[in-house]
Amino acid sequence: MPNRNDKILLLETTRFKCITESFVVLANELLKAGEEGGFVPWITGASYEQYPTGGYHDLGYAWDIRIHNVKDPLRFACALRTNLYAISDRFRVVYGNKDHTDHIHVEYRFDGKPRPEEA
Ligand SMILES: [Zn+2]
Repeated sequence: MPNRNDKILLLETTRFKCITESFVVLANELLKAGEEGGFVPWITGASYEQYPTGGYHDLGYAWDIRIHNVKDPLRFACALRTNLYAISDRFRVVYGNKDHTDHIHVEYRFDGKPRPEEA
């Protein structure tokens, strides 16, 4: 194992419904981003909580990521998007719209539905 930060922290309320292969891919990208940006990645939400029934969070395919511990959140979000989109066009990364100013939302559209902004 490389000598680096080897963990992702979780807000204490974060609950996972399942661990998907897409989450493993995201986790690896978060670890790399944290290493490069000098921060420890945090996941602040996965499933349960207030997430709408039937949505990607509820189904175990979406995760929210903290940004207030990141020096350059926009750069972080853009790099995460570029890297995940290169791996699969089923990933969707949302940051900077009215509902996503304090965290980055990542989902894996396992059902193959196009991203809303591209439909
Ligand atoms: Zn979300």
